[in-house]
Amino acid sequence: MSLTAEDTLSADLGLHWKPGFESLGPAFYTHLHPTPLPAPYWVGHSDAVAQWLGLPAAWRTPDALQALTGSLPVAGTRPLATVYSGHQFGVWAGQLGDGRAILLGETAGGLEVQLKGAGRTPYSRGGDGRAVLRSSIREFLASEAMHGLGIPTTRALCVTGSDAPVRRETLETAAVVARVAPSFIRFGHFEHFAARGQHEELRALADFVIDRFYPGCRDDARFDGNAYAALLNAVSERTAALMAQWQAAGFCHGVMNTDNMSILGLTIDYGPFQFLDAFAPGHICNHSDTSGRYAFNQQPNVAYWNLFCLAQALLPLIGEEERAMAALASYRTVFPAEFEARMRAKLGLGDARPDDLALVEALLRLLAAGGVDWPIFWRRLAEHRAGRELSPLRDLFLDSAGFDAWMLSFSERIAQESRALEPDSVLKANPKFVLRNHLAQEAIEQAQRKDFSGVARLLALMQAPYDDHPGMDAMAGFPPDWASTIEISCSS
Ligand code: AMP
Ligand code: MG
Repeated sequence: MSLTAEDTLSADLGLHWKPGFESLGPAFYTHLHPTPLPAPYWVGHSDAVAQWLGLPAAWRTPDALQALTGSLPVAGTRPLATVYSGHQFGVWAGQLGDGRAILLGETAGGLEVQLKGAGRTPYSRGGDGRAVLRSSIREFLASEAMHGLGIPTTRALCVTGSDAPVRRETLETAAVVARVAPSFIRFGHFEHFAARGQHEELRALADFVIDRFYPGCRDDARFDGNAYAALLNAVSERTAALMAQWQAAGFCHGVMNTDNMSILGLTIDYGPFQFLDAFAPGHICNHSDTSGRYAFNQQPNVAYWNLFCLAQALLPLIGEEERAMAALASYRTVFPAEFEARMRAKLGLGDARPDDLALVEALLRLLAAGGVDWPIFWRRLAEHRAGRELSPLRDLFLDSAGFDAWMLSFSERIAQESRALEPDSVLKANPKFVLRNHLAQEAIEQAQRKDFSGVARLLALMQAPYDDHPGMDAMAGFPPDWASTIEISCSS
């Protein structure tokens, strides 16, 4: 078989591509190619995502390595960077856009593939268009960890690295994450066209999102056929459910700007995120967040604030303000209901009773007062509920009297259950393995020495976080003292 010029100059990943976001037209993006990086190497990869995408079994070819680093075009794609705006730390920031992420395209199966850290774009502003190895490994592992926990998220196919230097606080090296999601559209995309009074584009974007992802909005009787109000309502409900999952998992996003909020209710843009170690409700994981705007316990309120921004952006389409506010209202009921449901599952309670929230709140106060480790508390509670002795759980509390009192009320509550507990269900609600900062950090330092086995090991744990993994118990233990000294800030 002879090769044409096009074959030799591009990589065929074995995927079929279709016009997706591109069909919206040039007001929404700029076509461009990633900027190549020299001598790329594989850092981590997820075969689960490869399968989801429909890649062939032997997908990690030398050409794919080049292509997924942005150093070789992918046959059949016309890459682009999208434009959006947003509120950052509560302040209107104007135009932002994909400053370092380049969308390769959308597969025939409806999945977008985006290369993060693939070079400068017209939206890079002062940035270099790059991402460093450290933050790319964190994003890759976190995406797959959240998926493993059952929390909606963008996914990550792989991380590739290059020795090309990238300057941050110190000199680091470049990496690219190949991210995958049905869509990377953010609240900020809507804010962008609303702020500029481009109502035709705003409507086209909303119609695109409704047709593809929320078709039920076209005939939602609750909103008298106002599809845009129904869209706002649906996004609010998905976001509320996502916040409930974050709070139950002890996940702190760290930079919930409106441009980091997915219109599909996915966790997106992993930066200074952290899974809590000790339970501290006001924990701030982003070193740049000096006011604590994005502290752990602020997340549900911030999400609502962000939805309010989305509502304002959609107002020209929705019509009256009251209708927009009505569309947002369910956030206030869905979030607490979903949060309670998550906490009941973690406690191993099958019935819903009116006093459950008080029981949960008393527990959270006890955990906060003692600075008790969040993942270990819940796993030990689950193990106790599944039949093991109480003492490993009780030993977590200096305030044994406080714990005993809570445990007594919990036991009384358990006695009211209408059905026997299915032990597996409570173990499946409380992961044994969590992507704590120090675990990621150890894998990163190993990877910086070109040993990528730690990344693969963590990935395997995080893909099945509820299971026992023989020989891996140390990875389910308490964090070392140095874990609390890790400082992560925005956009690295
Ligand atoms: P983030 O805080 O990561 O959500 O980024 C906010 C905005 O800054 C987005 O428009 C990013 O694309 C852009 N950005 C972040 N880091 C860089 C970088 N190194 N080069 C270019 N743009 C960047
Ligand atoms: Mg972002």
